[in-house]
Amino acid sequence: MIESRTMLVRRSLRTATAFLLAGASVVGAQSTTRAPARGASAIPTPASVLGFEPGADRKLPTWKQVADYFTALDKASPNVTVRTLGKTTLGRPFLVAFFSDPQTLANLPRYQQIQKKLMDPRLQSPGERARLLADGKLVVLITSSIHSTEVGGFLTPFVLAERLARADTPEARQILASSIVMLVPSQNPDGVDIVGDHYRATLGTPNEGQGPADLYHFYTGHDNNRDWYAFTQVETRYTVDSLYTPWVPQIVNDIHQQGANGGRIFIPPYMDPVEPNIDPILTAGTNSLGSAMSWRMISDGFTGVATNASYDQWSPARQYSLNHRGVRILTETASARLASPIDLPFDRLGTARGYDARVTSWNYPVLWPGGTWGIGDIVKYQTAASWAMLVEASRDRQGWLESYAEMGDRALGPNPPWGRDAWPSAYLIPKVQADTQAMQRLVWTLQHGQVEIRESTAPVTANGKSYPAGSYVVLLRQPFGSYAKALLERQQYPDLREYPGGPPKRPYDVTAHTLPLLFGVDVVAVMGSAPATGGIVREIPEPKYTAALSESRSRRIAIFRLSTSESMDAGWTRWMFDKYRVPFTTITEKDVAAGSLNGRFDAILIPDQAVQQLSRGIGEGGAAALGAFVQNGGTVLAFNDASLYAIEAMKLPVKNALEGARNTDFYAPGSIFGVDVNRAHPLTAGLTAPVPSVWFEDSPAFDITDPSAATAVLTYPASGNALLSGWLLGAPKLNGKAAMVDVKRGRGHVVLYGFRPQYRGQTNATFPLIWSAIGKPAM
Ligand SMILES: [Zn+2]
Repeated sequence: MIESRTMLVRRSLRTATAFLLAGASVVGAQSTTRAPARGASAIPTPASVLGFEPGADRKLPTWKQVADYFTALDKASPNVTVRTLGKTTLGRPFLVAFFSDPQTLANLPRYQQIQKKLMDPRLQSPGERARLLADGKLVVLITSSIHSTEVGGFLTPFVLAERLARADTPEARQILASSIVMLVPSQNPDGVDIVGDHYRATLGTPNEGQGPADLYHFYTGHDNNRDWYAFTQVETRYTVDSLYTPWVPQIVNDIHQQGANGGRIFIPPYMDPVEPNIDPILTAGTNSLGSAMSWRMISDGFTGVATNASYDQWSPARQYSLNHRGVRILTETASARLASPIDLPFDRLGTARGYDARVTSWNYPVLWPGGTWGIGDIVKYQTAASWAMLVEASRDRQGWLESYAEMGDRALGPNPPWGRDAWPSAYLIPKVQADTQAMQRLVWTLQHGQVEIRESTAPVTANGKSYPAGSYVVLLRQPFGSYAKALLERQQYPDLREYPGGPPKRPYDVTAHTLPLLFGVDVVAVMGSAPATGGIVREIPEPKYTAALSESRSRRIAIFRLSTSESMDAGWTRWMFDKYRVPFTTITEKDVAAGSLNGRFDAILIPDQAVQQLSRGIGEGGAAALGAFVQNGGTVLAFNDASLYAIEAMKLPVKNALEGARNTDFYAPGSIFGVDVNRAHPLTAGLTAPVPSVWFEDSPAFDITDPSAATAVLTYPASGNALLSGWLLGAPKLNGKAAMVDVKRGRGHVVLYGFRPQYRGQTNATFPLIWSAIGKPAM
């Protein structure tokens, strides 16, 4: 089998080479694989900018060096066009490089038009498709190093870019002739310097190879790849607005790294579950291309290649392309200690989800024997994988374009396009809502993800209620109708177990993404025939974040972080406070230990972090200082696991009812739960969500042991299942438990949130619960 396939490959490569040799204007056409072409000799090498070879031990680039190299390539090669898409969160230029043959690069608007028409059959004139399929290019987006401690991703783009710019191999010329490759050398340029500077400063010290204490994305840290439907961060928006939306690529390759002790690289197919709204053509395409990549890498002598392992295909937060007509090729290469090598004997390898790195299996067919592993190996694996993807995909340009056009037909054809359950014909978003701004943010968020929104031209009856003409309507028969459905419906995460009756299979990330619940907006599914609508509404301007606290109520607020490790939740809190223009001071355990906190602050907010980390970091003196702060009139807000710290440190009359529950008895790794609201309590004053709900992520639930000192603000329903979206095992354990508690202590308060009220910047519905706690005057 493999031999015949290889022969086929060789034949098609020869054909591609012959074709390219006939085209005189192709750079490097006269060259062989051994010697660089005349044109290619002017192409700068990465070492000429870096001063070292990409993959050299203990060497990382600065962002300026990355930008300098790509700028130099842009000048030197007709196969490269580099653009700056904007400034990052901390002010660095955000770059993309386009690679194709010079004729294509000179006519990018034309190819963008062909791509748009293939994507949306409504734009095609009768009989036009065959020509579009013949003329179109395969559009591939590669994003690297969104996670900045995955440092191979700083360097691999140098190697890929040089190869494509030099174009001195038949493979490179095949890629350039059939594809437009958009390479984002880093999806988080700030992190290249945050981690790189830290690494260089700690070289030769005992901390060499350890990541920095600060988040490597100022607001989101590692969560920066969980933003692909909420679009809260500028870096997400550059890639969405300038690359995904205008180009809707057929293939996306996202370059990551995983832990050190499993396989050397993961390549799709993914594990279950699959988000049911993803077009099965994309799942099959991802499986097919991923399998071709691992086949090719193993043929080339690479070992330790794992597929169908660790990573699932569920959350749209991580996979924009699978919801927008593009297969998603995540690669996860084993890490070292940043750019410092490690020694990893075979016996120290272990199990990962789906395979054992010491045992041959169908999805891990060749063992890595162990040994030294360093940045050079990482760059080699990442480069080989991305190259295999480009070569394999570009070999069948026509096939990729045909299946792409087919998805366009299905999206606009009869519903449901796949599966057996009936789809709604539309979702209706009434314009009169308790929170107009949240409704506008929902509409903007959908439109920003390429969802078409219209207005009803007649009253619509749905769920037994009548909604007036002029309501917003999301028809599901539209190019990205299935994506809209995924975000507007409630998720039913499958009950996956390690074995029948056994513990739950941990999802890779969270299990719910229902925007109407997260945003607190009333949205109605319309079953049966679609409502009458007018044309597509223009994208509304992004709603402004209004100042959350009026001037007179503005108070002195501290956001706590440990100096040794900043939590992502602290970053998201900072993002929210910046957006809503609420001034704050960041404090660490040193500030807390210094005491006299009432002289500096009115409220101290402790974001979600493991209770052991907080206890160890803050210490007994710090805990006493926090207790005194509350006694003397201060307010402490504690989010999610930090609430358990506050209970323990200040000996509050509250217990975690879920303490010690085994995951077979209770499990909810990221779901949306309904709550009953204590409307008499002032903290709930701003809560307007039509279906009050909270974001529960391995959270506690509270029993109040002294009702004279503590009041439930939000409570899970006394009976029935609190689950609204996602996954919950052991629902009865939540019945009647408090989700949010206000504890009065001395002249102050501790507010315990047994959930994440500002989850990844998305839970607009529960933001007011934070503002009300901070704005409350001291008693
Ligand atoms: Zn990663």
